Amino acid sequence: MDMPPAMAKQMLNAVQQTEEVEYSCDDVYRLMDEYVELVRRGEDTSKLMPLVEHHLKMCGDCREEVEALLRMMDSDPQR
Ligand SMILES: [Zn+2]
Repeated sequence: MDMPPAMAKQMLNAVQQTEEVEYSCDDVYRLMDEYVELVRRGEDTSKLMPLVEHHLKMCGDCREEVEALLRMMDSDPQR
């Protein structure tokens, strides 16, 4: 193994960040409009908003909220 220690440490930090930082329901609610907009544009939400995506996998309440928003927008003729 000849990886520079600084680099290894950086990689470790990156892993820890993705595993330890988690959004609460409040965080997700705040970003929900933005998230739904990305979904509607067909963007890759798992890349652009991975923390929201992650929370939605774990939290049925927020998932329902997102789905309700999407349904609402789809049935709104002005959008
Ligand atoms: Zn939630």
